[in-house]
Amino acid sequence: MPIYQTTAYVFRDADHAAKLFNLQEVGYIYSRLTNPTVSALANRVVALEGGAGGIACSSGHAAQIMALFPIMAPGRNIVASTKLYGGTIQQFSNTIRKFGWSAKFVDFDDPKEIEKAIDADTRAIFCETICNPGGALSDLPAIARVADMAGLPLIVDNTTASPYLCRPIEHGATLVVHSATKYLTGNGTVTGGIMVDSGKFNWSASDKFPSLSQPEPAYHGLVFHPTLGNMAFTFHSIAIGLRDLGMTMNPQGAHYTLMGIETLGLRMQRHVENAQVVAEWLEQDPRVGKVTYPGLKSSPYYHLAQKVTPKGPGALFTFSVKGGYEACVKLIDNLKLFSHVANLGDTRSLVIHSASTTHRQLSEEAQIKAGAAPDVVRISIGIENVEDIIADLDQALAKATA
Ligand SMILES: *Cc1c(COP(=O)(O)O)cnc(C)c1O
Repeated sequence: MPIYQTTAYVFRDADHAAKLFNLQEVGYIYSRLTNPTVSALANRVVALEGGAGGIACSSGHAAQIMALFPIMAPGRNIVASTKLYGGTIQQFSNTIRKFGWSAKFVDFDDPKEIEKAIDADTRAIFCETICNPGGALSDLPAIARVADMAGLPLIVDNTTASPYLCRPIEHGATLVVHSATKYLTGNGTVTGGIMVDSGKFNWSASDKFPSLSQPEPAYHGLVFHPTLGNMAFTFHSIAIGLRDLGMTMNPQGAHYTLMGIETLGLRMQRHVENAQVVAEWLEQDPRVGKVTYPGLKSSPYYHLAQKVTPKGPGALFTFSVKGGYEACVKLIDNLKLFSHVANLGDTRSLVIHSASTTHRQLSEEAQIKAGAAPDVVRISIGIENVEDIIADLDQALAKATA
């Protein structure tokens, strides 16, 4: 796939230009909307997820805003899991309030809690397949049933599973979002996001989604759904979302992510293999407390993992170190093979102490709820030789608990 390092595209003639702007013909106008390299990336992830359409954008956080944008309006809310990535909890707690949107956080382990939180202004349900950082899994079929009953779209952040381990649309998700920064690219070179639409939600079934089902003033009164069928959401995202919010991915970034995706299957196989071995080793170690990997029989999510992520429940989990906060900090300072970074899903093993970094702005109570208690470190297991990973943890644990 070439890198189209191109901003604008020559129209064949005046009629061609008019048709493109009227969405009567699909083509390239300006790279804030679409670009051939960026579209190729979006379409590949759409294919991997089994969706109808989608867009690539500038970051995972941008993808979340793009997913919410067509369905939200001032005064509307979403019901979201308490176990989301800390950055997403921030985005949903504070920043989206500036748009007049809000989020209600509930425990998604109990579908009745979700049901109870839904009100007349709720417009979406939002969760993560494998929750970051706590190693909890979402029971996607059960959550999708609640969303269905309420006539609401289910948005699933599938970053930590990748479409290799889980395809949320097959479990009932309406929209899937990704931070392409993580496993999709795989090597820490790109900040990017993807939004995939299943094409399965009937936006015209109620009057809850007027931007899609009523004449849209932001696009000369076009009624996106049902006029544009299962591509209604995708076209809205391009024609209005990307056009006006400009959270566009650049072609060079798309190129790196396209290269990354070529090895996604191989990498994910090795990630889950290594994670299982490391989690089992940690669990039997007397210097270590609780290990949250859902591939362990001791995990409350073990049986759910067989259903939702049968090839392996990712490579991201936490463990507690006997000796608390101090021991965690010492452990991190003594690890050599692990990189100490605020990232996950890299080929290299990564470690972070969530309570003092990514989840720092949350209260201790919220940290514990999110699986980021002060005595816990989060690791993202890479694709190195697993014996090297264990040797590094072993020597650092010795120093941390001496
Ligand atoms: C990193 C991450 C995001 C945000 O993605 P960015 O590319 O950093 O904007 C969202 N959700 C999850 C689960 C993440 O890990």
